[in-house]
Amino acid sequence: MTKQKEKLVSNRVLVCDDEELLLDEYRRCLSADYTADVATTTLTDLEKVLFGEETNDGGAVTFDLDTRTQGEDAVEAVAAAIAQDSPYAIVFLDIRMPPGIDGIEAARRIRKLDPNINIVIVSGSIGPELEKLDTEIPPADKVFFFKKPFHTVECRQLAAALCGKWHADMALRRVNEDLERRVAERTQLLQQLAYYDQVTRLPNQRLLVDELQGLIEQSEESPGDTVVVLVDINHFSFINETMGYDAGTELLRSIGSRLNRVLGREHNRNGGIIGRVGGDQFAVLMPGIESDTGIRDVAEKVRQTVEEPFLIDGRDLFLKTSIGVAWHPVHGRESKLIFRCAEAALHRSLRSPDHAITYYHSEMRYRAQHKFDLQAEFRTALEEGQIKAFYQPQQSLRTGELAGVEALARWIRPDGNIVPPTDFIPLSEEMGISDKLFEAILRDVCSEVAAWRTTRDWQIPVSVNISAHQLRNADLVSMVKQILLQQSIDQKLINLELTETALLEDLTAARPVLSDLNAYGVGIHIDDFGTGYSSLNYLAQLPVQTLKIDQSFISSLTESETNARVVQAIIALGRAMDLEVVAEGVETDQQYSILRRLECDLVQGYFIAKPMPADEFVRWCDGHEDTQSLKHGSSVVEIDKVRNND
Ligand code: C2E
Ligand code: MG
Ligand code: MG
Repeated sequence: MTKQKEKLVSNRVLVCDDEELLLDEYRRCLSADYTADVATTTLTDLEKVLFGEETNDGGAVTFDLDTRTQGEDAVEAVAAAIAQDSPYAIVFLDIRMPPGIDGIEAARRIRKLDPNINIVIVSGSIGPELEKLDTEIPPADKVFFFKKPFHTVECRQLAAALCGKWHADMALRRVNEDLERRVAERTQLLQQLAYYDQVTRLPNQRLLVDELQGLIEQSEESPGDTVVVLVDINHFSFINETMGYDAGTELLRSIGSRLNRVLGREHNRNGGIIGRVGGDQFAVLMPGIESDTGIRDVAEKVRQTVEEPFLIDGRDLFLKTSIGVAWHPVHGRESKLIFRCAEAALHRSLRSPDHAITYYHSEMRYRAQHKFDLQAEFRTALEEGQIKAFYQPQQSLRTGELAGVEALARWIRPDGNIVPPTDFIPLSEEMGISDKLFEAILRDVCSEVAAWRTTRDWQIPVSVNISAHQLRNADLVSMVKQILLQQSIDQKLINLELTETALLEDLTAARPVLSDLNAYGVGIHIDDFGTGYSSLNYLAQLPVQTLKIDQSFISSLTESETNARVVQAIIALGRAMDLEVVAEGVETDQQYSILRRLECDLVQGYFIAKPMPADEFVRWCDGHEDTQSLKHGSSVVEIDKVRNND
């Protein structure tokens, strides 16, 4: 039997009576060798429930009895028992014990010491003082009246029952305590999850905002600024991709702990608070900085700390950082605002070519406002149909015919200014409305294709650009089908162009969507091929019909024989995989000739024609019809002969 169990099953009873004779009576009836034939099953049963079958004797209850003759002594005995962690289950208190305090007063004092003990007041008669026992010495279920004279059997039964009750109470208390402890642990865990980053164990953005507010409030009483330095690890995803996720995690932990060691307040007297605010972004909050030089020093220190090499997987990693800085009180008095300023500065640093440490200034707020205005304007533009497709022809090098067109989005502002897609596509993605943009372009394209069919009997395949984001839209396939059906467009005339990098971003999501589209009859083209790192293996598994060689290969085509050989290799690859190859960005006669020699299938570029609005494209085609070789479905556009006039 364990020590704890021993303690629990021992039935400690204290009896306090000024009459020695009565004490002897208690001793007799509560002794181990008491032989009266008394049912003592209550406690035995409880023990079984609490501790299993095993009990400390053959079923008989034993009591561990102490006696006192004065109330004060009984109070002292209870105190000592608690101090020794061996409390009594019951105290019998005689109501009158001259010359000392009476049983009621002793009971009051004992209750203050021990909230669990069962108190039994023993008296020959029920006086008025006994009527209010339960309210005077609560709780009501732990205070009792026992009438003298009593039979020894009554006394033993009462003691056995109350000991059993006491053990049950104690067991319940332990269960409750355990529950409370577990609730407290869970609460702490939830707090950990809500306020701490699980990878680095550092405060997360939420906690940092609170901490910064705390520092700001404290700083009202002390001199100096409170600085927020946000640091982003450049190309962190590259580390994840090349060295694996575990190495990336280890690196994040190392960055966090190094920043903490060098700049954190746990390790430095004038240190600050370090946290992780995003995937590869950390924040340093530093109070009490008294000069501009001090602010610069903190930012420089952060950069230097992170840019010292890290040893990960036995390799020295040299990181590059982008850093944005803002501070209280110059950039605001409210922590969220200061964080936003630091974010704006970081954003600027991320985009600057040398990732210079960037200190927030109010012009950035102006820019942010400008961006906000631009977003509102773009939303209206989309609703009002200011976003249109321009068309750029693609020519077959083998036949000289017009083989298709690429639709390129343009924002035609009410003042006639044309905004290029590279300006508003990222905006639409940030705003979460890139799907709407795609839909607008596809509708525009389909209505032109329908018009060409009815007015000219032309059937020109059109390539529409699509971004990685659209592939994640569960409704993409049904949306495409619905638009094509509405205008009765032959699905073979519509191709979707997806850049190689977008494709690689989420290949698992892309594959089924592309398969569905392809099964429906829509062609899939890989745009800007050669800029990503596609493996031939999955290229072969994807439902792709065309590769578009990236412009950069075409512009450098004439620079060296090697560059020409790279293009030749891509063309050969396309041929081997049964894919059509398009060269885009063809600007010169020389490039055109080389591509023809290399037997590239199609060319697209300013050398043929620039992207044009729909009506201009129709005129352009009409202009080439003069050559009598324009054919779309029934007719051909022979653009070879006239392209130099454009
Ligand atoms: P992209 O799909 O690779 O389109 C080719 C880009 O090269 C177009 O730029 C085109 O105007 C330009 N270009 C064509 N020929 C030549 C040439 O001979 N020399 C040079 N230097 N450039 C040439 P644009 O129209 O500014 O589009 C840029 C990119 O924006 C596109 O690259 C495409 O990725 C994206 N984009 C355009 N429209 C859409 C769209 O509707 N949806 C999506 N998601 N992306 C689009
Ligand atoms: Mg394209
Ligand atoms: Mg391209």
